[in-house]
Amino acid sequence: AKDSGKGCGATFDQAMRDRVTERLDLEFDLRRAVEEGEFEVFYQPIMSLSDNRVAKAEALVRWNHPTRGILPPTLFIPVAEETGAIEEVGAQVLDEAVRQAAHWRRNDRTLSELKISVNLSPRQLTSEGIVDQVARTLHKHQLPPEALALEITESASMDNVGLVQEIMDGFAELGVSVHLDDFGTGYSSLSILHSLPFSTIKLDRSFINNLVEEVESATTIWAVVMIAQAGRLEVVAEGIETHDQLAKIRELGCDYGQGYYISRPLPPHEFEAFCRTKLDE
Ligand code: C2E
Ligand code: CA
Ligand code: CA
Ligand code: CA
Repeated sequence: AKDSGKGCGATFDQAMRDRVTERLDLEFDLRRAVEEGEFEVFYQPIMSLSDNRVAKAEALVRWNHPTRGILPPTLFIPVAEETGAIEEVGAQVLDEAVRQAAHWRRNDRTLSELKISVNLSPRQLTSEGIVDQVARTLHKHQLPPEALALEITESASMDNVGLVQEIMDGFAELGVSVHLDDFGTGYSSLSILHSLPFSTIKLDRSFINNLVEEVESATTIWAVVMIAQAGRLEVVAEGIETHDQLAKIRELGCDYGQGYYISRPLPPHEFEAFCRTKLDE
Protein backbone atom coordinates (compact mmCIF):
# COMPACT_ATOMS: atom_id res chain seq x y z
CA ALA A 1 0.00 0.00 0.00
CA LYS A 2 2.88 2.26 0.91
CA ASP A 3 4.50 1.65 -2.44
CA SER A 4 1.39 2.46 -4.44
CA GLY A 5 0.97 5.63 -2.38
CA LYS A 6 4.48 6.66 -3.32
CA GLY A 7 3.76 5.84 -6.95
CA CYS A 8 0.71 8.04 -6.81
CA GLY A 9 2.75 10.91 -5.43
CA ALA A 10 5.30 10.57 -8.16
CA THR A 11 2.58 10.60 -10.82
CA PHE A 12 1.02 13.63 -9.20
CA ASP A 13 4.35 15.48 -9.12
CA GLN A 14 4.90 14.59 -12.73
CA ALA A 15 1.46 15.90 -13.67
CA MET A 16 2.20 19.14 -11.79
CA ARG A 17 5.53 19.48 -13.54
CA ASP A 18 3.86 18.90 -16.89
CA ARG A 19 1.32 21.56 -16.20
CA VAL A 20 3.92 24.10 -15.11
CA THR A 21 6.02 23.32 -18.17
CA GLU A 22 3.00 23.66 -20.42
CA ARG A 23 2.18 27.00 -18.86
CA LEU A 24 5.76 28.25 -19.28
CA ASP A 25 5.72 27.05 -22.90
CA LEU A 26 2.56 29.00 -23.48
CA GLU A 27 3.99 32.16 -21.92
CA PHE A 28 7.13 31.84 -24.01
CA ASP A 29 5.11 31.05 -27.12
CA LEU A 30 2.89 34.08 -26.55
CA ARG A 31 5.89 36.38 -26.37
CA ARG A 32 7.13 35.07 -29.71
CA ALA A 33 3.64 35.35 -31.21
CA VAL A 34 3.47 39.02 -30.21
CA GLU A 35 6.84 39.68 -31.84
CA GLU A 36 6.07 37.69 -34.98
CA GLY A 37 2.53 39.03 -35.30
CA GLU A 38 0.86 35.61 -35.32
CA PHE A 39 -2.57 36.95 -34.34
CA GLU A 40 -5.42 37.20 -36.79
CA VAL A 41 -8.72 38.93 -36.39
CA PHE A 42 -11.99 37.26 -37.38
CA TYR A 43 -15.24 39.18 -37.71
CA GLN A 44 -18.66 37.98 -36.58
CA PRO A 45 -21.60 39.71 -38.31
CA ILE A 46 -24.13 41.47 -36.07
CA MET A 47 -27.49 41.82 -37.76
CA SER A 48 -29.81 44.76 -37.38
CA LEU A 49 -33.25 43.26 -36.70
CA SER A 50 -35.07 46.25 -38.15
CA ASP A 51 -33.73 45.76 -41.69
CA ASN A 52 -31.87 42.40 -41.63
CA ARG A 53 -28.61 44.04 -42.70
CA VAL A 54 -25.16 43.44 -41.24
CA ALA A 55 -24.74 46.70 -39.33
CA LYS A 56 -21.84 45.77 -37.10
CA ALA A 57 -19.09 43.21 -36.64
CA GLU A 58 -17.36 41.96 -33.51
CA ALA A 59 -13.61 41.55 -33.86
CA LEU A 60 -12.47 38.25 -32.30
CA VAL A 61 -8.80 37.33 -32.08
CA ARG A 62 -7.37 34.00 -33.28
CA TRP A 63 -3.81 32.77 -32.85
CA ASN A 64 -2.38 31.32 -36.03
CA HIS A 65 0.16 29.10 -34.28
CA PRO A 66 3.02 27.78 -36.45
CA THR A 67 2.60 24.15 -35.28
CA ARG A 68 -0.76 23.98 -33.50
CA GLY A 69 -2.90 25.71 -36.11
CA ILE A 70 -5.63 28.23 -35.35
CA LEU A 71 -6.13 28.58 -31.58
CA PRO A 72 -9.28 30.11 -30.02
CA PRO A 73 -8.95 33.02 -27.55
CA THR A 74 -10.23 30.94 -24.62
CA LEU A 75 -6.94 29.02 -24.86
CA PHE A 76 -4.61 32.00 -24.49
CA ILE A 77 -6.43 35.21 -23.47
CA PRO A 78 -6.63 34.24 -19.76
CA VAL A 79 -2.84 33.57 -19.63
CA ALA A 80 -2.15 36.75 -21.62
CA GLU A 81 -4.29 38.62 -19.11
CA GLU A 82 -2.32 37.19 -16.17
CA THR A 83 1.13 37.81 -17.60
CA GLY A 84 0.33 41.22 -19.04
CA ALA A 85 0.93 40.10 -22.64
CA ILE A 86 -2.69 41.11 -23.23
CA GLU A 87 -1.63 44.75 -23.54
CA GLU A 88 0.48 43.92 -26.62
CA VAL A 89 -1.99 41.41 -28.04
CA GLY A 90 -4.83 43.86 -27.48
CA ALA A 91 -2.94 46.72 -29.13
CA GLN A 92 -2.36 44.53 -32.21
CA VAL A 93 -6.02 43.49 -32.38
CA LEU A 94 -7.22 47.09 -32.01
CA ASP A 95 -4.83 48.31 -34.70
CA GLU A 96 -5.81 45.56 -37.12
CA ALA A 97 -9.58 45.85 -36.54
CA VAL A 98 -9.51 49.64 -36.92
CA ARG A 99 -7.37 49.37 -40.06
CA GLN A 100 -9.74 46.79 -41.54
CA ALA A 101 -12.88 48.77 -40.67
CA ALA A 102 -11.44 51.95 -42.21
CA HIS A 103 -10.52 50.01 -45.35
CA TRP A 104 -14.00 48.49 -45.64
CA ARG A 105 -15.78 51.80 -45.08
CA ARG A 106 -13.68 53.47 -47.78
CA ASN A 107 -13.57 50.74 -50.41
CA ASP A 108 -16.57 48.48 -50.04
CA ARG A 109 -19.93 49.91 -51.04
CA THR A 110 -21.87 47.41 -48.93
CA LEU A 111 -19.73 48.12 -45.84
CA SER A 112 -19.56 51.93 -45.93
CA GLU A 113 -21.46 52.28 -42.64
CA LEU A 114 -20.11 49.23 -40.83
CA LYS A 115 -19.42 49.58 -37.11
CA ILE A 116 -16.75 47.51 -35.47
CA SER A 117 -16.62 46.23 -31.86
CA VAL A 118 -13.35 45.39 -30.14
CA ASN A 119 -13.12 43.53 -26.81
CA LEU A 120 -11.11 45.11 -24.00
CA SER A 121 -10.12 42.82 -21.12
CA PRO A 122 -10.13 44.26 -17.57
CA ARG A 123 -6.37 44.72 -17.58
CA GLN A 124 -6.36 46.41 -20.99
CA LEU A 125 -9.17 48.76 -20.02
CA THR A 126 -7.28 50.14 -17.04
CA SER A 127 -3.81 50.07 -18.59
CA GLU A 128 -1.92 53.35 -18.66
CA GLY A 129 -2.82 55.56 -21.62
CA ILE A 130 -5.62 53.40 -23.06
CA VAL A 131 -7.72 56.42 -24.14
CA ASP A 132 -4.72 57.93 -25.96
CA GLN A 133 -3.99 54.57 -27.57
CA VAL A 134 -7.52 54.39 -28.97
CA ALA A 135 -7.36 58.02 -30.14
CA ARG A 136 -4.01 57.45 -31.89
CA THR A 137 -5.21 54.27 -33.57
CA LEU A 138 -8.34 55.98 -34.93
CA HIS A 139 -6.24 58.86 -36.22
CA LYS A 140 -3.61 56.58 -37.76
CA HIS A 141 -6.22 54.79 -39.90
CA GLN A 142 -8.59 57.73 -40.25
CA LEU A 143 -11.56 55.83 -38.86
CA PRO A 144 -14.41 58.05 -37.60
CA PRO A 145 -14.86 57.44 -33.84
CA GLU A 146 -18.55 56.61 -34.20
CA ALA A 147 -17.51 53.53 -36.23
CA LEU A 148 -15.78 52.01 -33.19
CA ALA A 149 -17.23 50.44 -30.05
CA LEU A 150 -15.36 48.86 -27.17
CA GLU A 151 -16.81 45.86 -25.34
CA ILE A 152 -16.13 45.53 -21.64
CA THR A 153 -17.54 43.19 -19.01
CA GLU A 154 -19.07 43.99 -15.69
CA SER A 155 -16.16 42.43 -13.80
CA ALA A 156 -13.84 44.93 -15.50
CA SER A 157 -15.92 47.84 -14.34
CA MET A 158 -16.57 46.74 -10.77
CA ASP A 159 -12.98 46.53 -9.52
CA ASN A 160 -12.43 50.27 -9.66
CA VAL A 161 -15.55 52.18 -10.61
CA GLY A 162 -13.91 55.61 -10.24
CA LEU A 163 -11.06 54.83 -12.61
CA VAL A 164 -13.34 53.07 -15.10
CA GLN A 165 -15.69 56.06 -15.04
CA GLU A 166 -12.79 58.37 -15.88
CA ILE A 167 -11.67 56.12 -18.76
CA MET A 168 -15.21 55.83 -20.10
CA ASP A 169 -15.60 59.60 -20.00
CA GLY A 170 -12.41 59.75 -22.07
CA PHE A 171 -13.89 57.39 -24.66
CA ALA A 172 -17.12 59.41 -24.69
CA GLU A 173 -15.11 62.57 -25.37
CA LEU A 174 -13.48 60.83 -28.33
CA GLY A 175 -16.92 59.80 -29.61
CA VAL A 176 -16.28 56.08 -29.12
CA SER A 177 -19.12 54.09 -27.55
CA VAL A 178 -18.82 51.36 -24.93
CA HIS A 179 -20.87 48.16 -24.83
CA LEU A 180 -21.57 46.15 -21.68
CA ASP A 181 -20.62 42.57 -22.64
CA ASP A 182 -22.04 39.31 -21.19
CA PHE A 183 -24.88 41.20 -19.53
CA GLY A 184 -26.66 39.18 -16.87
CA THR A 185 -23.77 36.94 -15.86
CA GLY A 186 -22.51 39.19 -13.04
CA TYR A 187 -23.92 40.34 -9.72
CA SER A 188 -24.65 44.00 -10.16
CA SER A 189 -25.65 44.40 -13.77
CA LEU A 190 -28.45 46.83 -13.06
CA SER A 191 -26.59 49.24 -10.82
CA ILE A 192 -23.68 49.42 -13.24
CA LEU A 193 -26.03 50.58 -16.00
CA HIS A 194 -26.89 53.59 -13.89
CA SER A 195 -23.37 54.50 -12.87
CA LEU A 196 -21.53 54.16 -16.20
CA PRO A 197 -22.34 55.60 -19.67
CA PHE A 198 -22.88 52.49 -21.81
CA SER A 199 -24.56 52.78 -25.21
CA THR A 200 -25.41 49.11 -25.61
CA ILE A 201 -26.21 45.99 -23.61
CA LYS A 202 -24.99 42.66 -24.96
CA LEU A 203 -27.31 40.03 -23.52
CA ASP A 204 -25.28 36.98 -22.59
CA ARG A 205 -25.99 33.88 -24.61
CA SER A 206 -27.07 31.91 -21.52
CA PHE A 207 -30.39 33.80 -21.78
CA ILE A 208 -30.80 32.85 -25.42
CA ASN A 209 -29.94 29.15 -24.86
CA ASN A 210 -33.25 28.14 -23.30
CA LEU A 211 -35.30 30.99 -24.67
CA VAL A 212 -37.68 28.91 -26.72
CA GLU A 213 -38.47 26.32 -24.01
CA GLU A 214 -38.56 28.50 -20.91
CA VAL A 215 -41.03 31.25 -20.22
CA GLU A 216 -38.74 32.82 -17.58
CA SER A 217 -35.96 33.50 -20.09
CA ALA A 218 -38.35 35.35 -22.37
CA THR A 219 -39.67 37.36 -19.44
CA THR A 220 -36.14 38.29 -18.38
CA ILE A 221 -35.17 39.40 -21.89
CA TRP A 222 -38.37 41.38 -22.16
CA ALA A 223 -37.56 43.14 -18.86
CA VAL A 224 -34.00 43.92 -20.01
CA VAL A 225 -35.37 45.41 -23.24
CA MET A 226 -37.72 47.62 -21.17
CA ILE A 227 -34.87 48.80 -18.94
CA ALA A 228 -32.71 49.46 -21.99
CA GLN A 229 -35.41 51.50 -23.69
CA ALA A 230 -35.90 53.57 -20.54
CA GLY A 231 -32.18 54.41 -20.56
CA ARG A 232 -31.96 54.83 -24.36
CA LEU A 233 -29.64 51.84 -24.66
CA GLU A 234 -29.59 49.37 -27.51
CA VAL A 235 -29.72 45.60 -26.98
CA VAL A 236 -27.68 42.99 -28.85
CA ALA A 237 -28.73 39.38 -28.25
CA GLU A 238 -25.70 37.04 -28.38
CA GLY A 239 -25.53 33.32 -29.13
CA ILE A 240 -28.46 32.91 -31.51
CA GLU A 241 -28.21 29.37 -32.82
CA THR A 242 -31.67 28.65 -34.25
CA HIS A 243 -34.35 30.18 -36.40
CA ASP A 244 -36.81 30.07 -33.49
CA GLN A 245 -34.43 31.97 -31.20
CA LEU A 246 -33.98 34.66 -33.84
CA ALA A 247 -37.74 35.00 -34.27
CA LYS A 248 -38.21 35.21 -30.50
CA ILE A 249 -35.62 37.92 -29.81
CA ARG A 250 -37.07 39.95 -32.66
CA GLU A 251 -40.52 39.62 -31.11
CA LEU A 252 -39.12 40.65 -27.69
CA GLY A 253 -37.77 43.91 -29.14
CA CYS A 254 -34.00 43.37 -29.23
CA ASP A 255 -32.27 45.69 -31.73
CA TYR A 256 -29.52 43.37 -32.98
CA GLY A 257 -28.76 39.67 -33.17
CA GLN A 258 -25.45 37.81 -33.20
CA GLY A 259 -24.81 34.07 -33.28
CA TYR A 260 -23.92 30.97 -35.26
CA TYR A 261 -27.39 30.86 -36.84
CA ILE A 262 -26.60 34.17 -38.56
CA SER A 263 -22.89 33.47 -39.05
CA ARG A 264 -19.79 32.22 -37.28
CA PRO A 265 -16.86 34.61 -36.87
CA LEU A 266 -15.22 34.83 -40.33
CA PRO A 267 -11.84 35.78 -41.77
CA PRO A 268 -11.99 39.18 -43.57
CA HIS A 269 -12.57 37.87 -47.11
CA GLU A 270 -15.36 35.56 -46.06
CA PHE A 271 -16.91 38.36 -44.03
CA GLU A 272 -16.98 40.59 -47.12
CA ALA A 273 -18.55 37.82 -49.20
CA PHE A 274 -21.13 37.13 -46.50
CA CYS A 275 -22.20 40.78 -46.34
CA ARG A 276 -22.52 40.95 -50.12
CA THR A 277 -24.79 37.92 -50.39
CA LYS A 278 -26.92 39.19 -47.51
CA LEU A 279 -27.54 42.42 -49.39
CA ASP A 280 -28.59 40.54 -52.51
CA GLU A 281 -31.20 38.42 -50.74
P1 C2E B 1 -17.18 37.23 -26.07
O1 C2E B 1 -16.65 38.62 -26.11
O2 C2E B 1 -18.42 36.99 -25.29
O3 C2E B 1 -17.36 36.82 -27.61
C1 C2E B 1 -18.39 36.00 -28.09
C2 C2E B 1 -17.94 34.55 -28.17
O4 C2E B 1 -19.08 33.74 -28.41
C3 C2E B 1 -16.98 34.28 -29.34
O5 C2E B 1 -16.11 33.22 -28.94
C4 C2E B 1 -17.94 33.78 -30.41
O6 C2E B 1 -17.32 32.99 -31.39
C5 C2E B 1 -18.89 32.98 -29.57
N1 C2E B 1 -20.19 32.83 -30.23
C6 C2E B 1 -20.78 33.65 -31.12
N2 C2E B 1 -21.99 33.19 -31.50
C7 C2E B 1 -22.18 32.02 -30.83
C8 C2E B 1 -23.25 31.06 -30.79
O7 C2E B 1 -24.26 31.17 -31.47
N3 C2E B 1 -23.08 29.99 -29.96
C9 C2E B 1 -21.96 29.83 -29.19
N4 C2E B 1 -21.88 28.74 -28.44
N5 C2E B 1 -20.94 30.73 -29.20
C10 C2E B 1 -21.05 31.80 -30.01
P2 C2E B 1 -14.53 33.32 -29.14
O8 C2E B 1 -14.19 34.00 -30.43
O9 C2E B 1 -13.98 31.95 -28.90
O10 C2E B 1 -14.10 34.29 -27.97
C11 C2E B 1 -14.25 33.90 -26.63
C12 C2E B 1 -13.96 35.06 -25.70
O11 C2E B 1 -12.58 35.44 -25.79
C13 C2E B 1 -14.75 36.32 -26.03
O12 C2E B 1 -16.05 36.22 -25.51
C14 C2E B 1 -13.90 37.36 -25.33
O13 C2E B 1 -14.18 37.39 -23.96
C15 C2E B 1 -12.49 36.83 -25.55
N6 C2E B 1 -11.89 37.50 -26.71
C16 C2E B 1 -11.99 37.23 -28.02
N7 C2E B 1 -11.26 38.08 -28.77
C17 C2E B 1 -10.70 38.95 -27.90
C18 C2E B 1 -9.84 40.09 -28.06
O14 C2E B 1 -9.44 40.51 -29.16
N8 C2E B 1 -9.45 40.72 -26.90
C19 C2E B 1 -9.88 40.31 -25.67
N9 C2E B 1 -9.46 41.00 -24.60
N10 C2E B 1 -10.69 39.27 -25.50
C20 C2E B 1 -11.10 38.59 -26.60
CA1 CA C 1 -17.54 40.52 -26.70
CA1 CA D 1 -20.23 38.28 -24.89
CA1 CA E 1 -17.25 36.55 -22.48
